[in-house]
Amino acid sequence: MTTIDPCRPVDAGTVDEWFEDSDVLVIGYGAAGACAAIEAVDAGARVSLLEVASAGGGTTALAGGQIYLGGGTPVQRACGFEDSAADMEAYLLAAAGANVDPQRAHVYAHGSLEHFDWLVAQGVRFNHEYYAGKHTNTPEYQTLTWSGNERGYAESRAARPAPRAHKPHAFWEEGGATLMATLRAAVERRPIRVHVDTRALTLLREGERVVGALCRQDGVVRAWRARRGVVLCCGGFVMNREMVARYAPRLKDATPIGSPGDTGAGILMGLGAGGAAIDMNEGFVSVVWYPSGEFCKGVFVNEQGQRFVNEDCYHARGGHHCLNQSNRKAYMVVDSGIYTEPPLYAAAPVLQVGETFEELERDAGFAEGTLSATLATYNRFARAGEDPLFHKSRDFLRPLDQPPFALLDFSIDTGIFYPSFTLGGLDTTIDGEVLTPSGIPIPGLYAAGRTSAGLPRSGEGYASGMSIGDATFFGRRAGRAAVRGG
Ligand SMILES: Cc1cc2nc3c(=O)[nH]c(=O)nc-3n(C[C@H](O)[C@H](O)[C@H](O)COP(=O)(O)OP(=O)(O)OC[C@H]3O[C@@H](n4cnc5c(N)ncnc54)[C@H](O)[C@@H]3O)c2cc1C
Repeated sequence: MTTIDPCRPVDAGTVDEWFEDSDVLVIGYGAAGACAAIEAVDAGARVSLLEVASAGGGTTALAGGQIYLGGGTPVQRACGFEDSAADMEAYLLAAAGANVDPQRAHVYAHGSLEHFDWLVAQGVRFNHEYYAGKHTNTPEYQTLTWSGNERGYAESRAARPAPRAHKPHAFWEEGGATLMATLRAAVERRPIRVHVDTRALTLLREGERVVGALCRQDGVVRAWRARRGVVLCCGGFVMNREMVARYAPRLKDATPIGSPGDTGAGILMGLGAGGAAIDMNEGFVSVVWYPSGEFCKGVFVNEQGQRFVNEDCYHARGGHHCLNQSNRKAYMVVDSGIYTEPPLYAAAPVLQVGETFEELERDAGFAEGTLSATLATYNRFARAGEDPLFHKSRDFLRPLDQPPFALLDFSIDTGIFYPSFTLGGLDTTIDGEVLTPSGIPIPGLYAAGRTSAGLPRSGEGYASGMSIGDATFFGRRAGRAAVRGG
């Protein structure tokens, strides 16, 4: 066979021999793929699950493992927090930005309690411990923490705030590995035919209908048949630097995080079958200035010496805004009362130190009267416990009044850590049906997780837990829908 291109589906009529015949073929064995396969087999389908790596896991297994769940989960209640599906939905709509899919936010929020129970039924263990600190994940075994902008000024007016990140019982960042070990065990308890070291190369079609995939296994190209549907769960495209440069150039200098499988193969196969890809420029891009939460008491400024964000916001919102400043220049001013230890993650270099704001301004090369005016205004309001410009919470609001003052350089060109993964992908219905540019479902083709544009579609509105929450929740829906066929 000649070169196989993911963007060129192959006519199933050319297949001489089918290697395996299933009802539902799930491609990619991360969170979305595992959940799609479990639901499909539980609905009575014969299911094949393919994975290019030597074991299931994907980026999910590398993740901190927080899952965005709410509406009054047993964990939230045990930790003393009230939440409702309506509040969760209102938060998702308020935080997520202009490209939010309201229908997706609605079913996600209103299905969250059922999804929590389903995860528990698969063996996922959540504990009833809450972590209150400002961190990127719970630092020990705690399950529940704040993970987005729920307590932000605008969001807290739209929805009663509640912590919604639920990490499976696991130490610090081992939540994703623990989640995937549990989902793998759930897959293994079922008659799902799992093939690892198997790369899907392109889709097979009969007319417009997707009926399988050509895959490379043991160095041989083999054909998998799917009588009801193929579910693409191949992750995102952050490791495909050509795709990043083409579709999401804003992310190209950020550090790609994820598994080597994030090559965009699922998106390309979907495009080849006539699907549309949307929000391809969007991604999680973060710069991490906390922990310690002390750094949230600092003041972010751009090269004009102006503030641009509340410094207690979620780190991906901060990263989004830092990248959006002119010349991608972003700095943080701290005083000696804050700078007691270097930041754990970002380790932003100290660019300049001054005994006064004016000295810092001059020596760092800001235009006269800019940075100093910003900091004087900040201090004046902070003394009164107010931040009328960006509404930073009082927990982190205090005047910078302990010289010397330092200017930390958070600009991406310093080479500091700006982790990033992609959020754009195939346009789908809430049941994972892949849509053409005119919004028509492609028969037999489904997608979930980062192969699709799911619940999180904006870096600015992202909260930890949204991606795995989306992949597991909508992976399940896609698996069930594929059994129904279409
Ligand atoms: C360090 C880190 C921490 C994170 N922390 C969190 C967090 O706490 N909470 C959260 O919600 N999100 C987090 N994320 C993001 C989140 O982990 C991912 O976005 C999410 O897990 C994606 O799930 P998925 O099922 O779509 O893809 P994956 O889990 O990546 O699964 C896709 C699978 O498809 C396979 N595959 C790809 N191409 C092919 C092919 N052609 N044939 C066969 N198989 C193929 C891949 O090898 C992979 O195993 C984090 C990410 C990183 C990197």
